[in-house]
Amino acid sequence: MSTQTIEKDLLRGGQFLVKETKCEDVFTLEDLSEEQKMMRDSTKEFVDRELWSHWERFESKDYAYTEETMRHAGELGLLGIAVPEAYGGLGMGFVSTMLVCDYISGATGSFSTAFGAHTGIGTMPIILYGNEEQKKKYVPKLATGEWFGAYCLTEPGAGSDANSGKTKAVLSEDGKFYAITGQKMWISNAGFCNMFIVFARIEDDKNITGFIVENDPENGITMGDEEKKLGIHSSSTRQVFFNETKVPVENMLSERGNGFKIAMNALNVGRIKLAAACLEAQRRVITEAVKYANERLQFKTPIINFGAIKSKVATMATNAYAGESACYRAAKNIEDRITLRVAQGNPHQEAELKGVEEYAIECSILKVAVSEDCQSTTDEGIQIFGGMGFSADTPMESAWRDSRIARIYEGTNEINRMLAVGMLVKKAMKGHVDLLGPATQVGEELMGIPSFDVPDFSELFSEEKDLLARLKKVFLMVAGSAVQKFGPELEKHQQLLMAASDILIEVYMAESTLLRTEKNAKRFGEEAQEAQIAMSKLYLYNAVDIIIQKGKEAIVSFAEGDEQRMMLMGLKRFTKYTNQPNVVALRTLIADKVAADQGYTFD
Ligand SMILES: Cc1cc2nc3c(=O)[nH]c(=O)nc-3n(C[C@H](O)[C@H](O)[C@H](O)COP(=O)(O)OP(=O)(O)OC[C@H]3O[C@@H](n4cnc5c(N)ncnc54)[C@H](O)[C@@H]3O)c2cc1C
Repeated sequence: MSTQTIEKDLLRGGQFLVKETKCEDVFTLEDLSEEQKMMRDSTKEFVDRELWSHWERFESKDYAYTEETMRHAGELGLLGIAVPEAYGGLGMGFVSTMLVCDYISGATGSFSTAFGAHTGIGTMPIILYGNEEQKKKYVPKLATGEWFGAYCLTEPGAGSDANSGKTKAVLSEDGKFYAITGQKMWISNAGFCNMFIVFARIEDDKNITGFIVENDPENGITMGDEEKKLGIHSSSTRQVFFNETKVPVENMLSERGNGFKIAMNALNVGRIKLAAACLEAQRRVITEAVKYANERLQFKTPIINFGAIKSKVATMATNAYAGESACYRAAKNIEDRITLRVAQGNPHQEAELKGVEEYAIECSILKVAVSEDCQSTTDEGIQIFGGMGFSADTPMESAWRDSRIARIYEGTNEINRMLAVGMLVKKAMKGHVDLLGPATQVGEELMGIPSFDVPDFSELFSEEKDLLARLKKVFLMVAGSAVQKFGPELEKHQQLLMAASDILIEVYMAESTLLRTEKNAKRFGEEAQEAQIAMSKLYLYNAVDIIIQKGKEAIVSFAEGDEQRMMLMGLKRFTKYTNQPNVVALRTLIADKVAADQGYTFD
């Protein structure tokens, strides 16, 4: 197949909203190759052996153990999965790197943060933006765990507003080095890293610049104490102070003033990987919770028999399944985009950069959705354990605390919500995604007389797919009118953006779930996918409720009179379920399956 044909078939980032995706075109966890399955299984073995069985050590702030296990992960090749072979890594595809990140992260947030900070933001900026000398010098050491990396962007006064940092880089008179001075905070891996990616401003530049800085206490680098944190107790987090730290000019990453771009692009990869990192945590919590519920007797019956508990288990499993479906769908899109760019002659470095950037909208969506599902799952995990869930002797308590950070780092969920919609609108303006045409059509549809025909919904998911297509219209209606009304001022209407973003998120997650199950039902049979079909329907049912609420909130915030009435009628029409599913029956079916399997077995 020619590269043009592949390109035509490949959905661009954000296009899921306006183009139909066939189930055959999505990648699912059931499509893993034998090699990928082996990778997953060896990662799981490592986690069970070295992390899960030692979770108390992670809770007791045993930073040395985090470092030791990171080193073992390096010896096993797990730190070099995403690193090209030329620099000592395994050079595996994006899906494989997601798999490792997913399955390595379930036992403790301490390790997964150390792993993510090292392999992601600590290493990727060099792989993506470093020159040949820099890559040869640093990447092989980082790929094997001989060296560990950290990433210094945040400062006391520069958090979400990352480009506002005050750290300075001053060129020496002989032009041979920069002297970096400034204070960085919340730096993961600071306590044991050998190297930092540091962002600093040269003179009064508009944008910051990235540097590779070796960790040498003799070179003006000092650290604060370990931060006392709510969770991820054994992840090293410290302030780092640079005082006239000399950095050779050849250690500048990319070009002067390119640091903000580097920081943001490193975060795109970080966001989708963070979403993956929240999946195995959910699976393990579900499995532990259901094992407990199967055994815990109250009123002379295992508590799993209570509808109240079944409802929780079903929702937890459904969210994890949706997260998996969407993460791996997007991961394969990214991998295909990278492959395509390489085939078109782009150097691998550029192909990877552009491949991920293309799906920055999906990366933000996933970061928000999966981190919030992870938190609600750990919360319900505690509830299922009752008083024991509140005890630090069970893994529920630490899982709940550890999950909390995922909503804050790699860009807070508020920032990512606004980014998702903002980037989509920008793509539409640039003509990369045609939102205007479909939004105009939706406007015309609103003026027209609705059809009263009841379509034939007998085929699996035919009604759900029809509904999903209409849910996309809700987003187009709301966002299209809002853009028309506010133009560039839209970014000031944050509550509206948040509501629009929630609609976008629900559409992507619900569609990914449905497509995965449809694909699997076609090849494995509907009977074999009974629980997955139920989860897909339950997810969509919940998504519709959220979309109704958020759609209404958005519409009444900016439309009045006839326009408001017309849009609210449109909302009702676009969210109409002809045959409402019996969600109690769906939840019961799902929970019974998870209980019978003694855990989450859909991956
Ligand atoms: C455990 C931990 C590890 C970390 N690791 C690293 C690391 O390795 N390297 C690194 O550089 N940083 C790291 N961080 C920093 C992290 O990325 C920041 O905490 C995060 O980006 C938020 O910045 P902030 O804490 O300054 O919050 P703020 O930016 O002050 O935000 C506070 C609140 O205001 C909201 N807000 C801010 N701006 C806006 C806006 N424009 N519109 C609407 N709402 C807004 C935020 O969403 C948030 O709810 C880490 C943080 C923690 C806690």
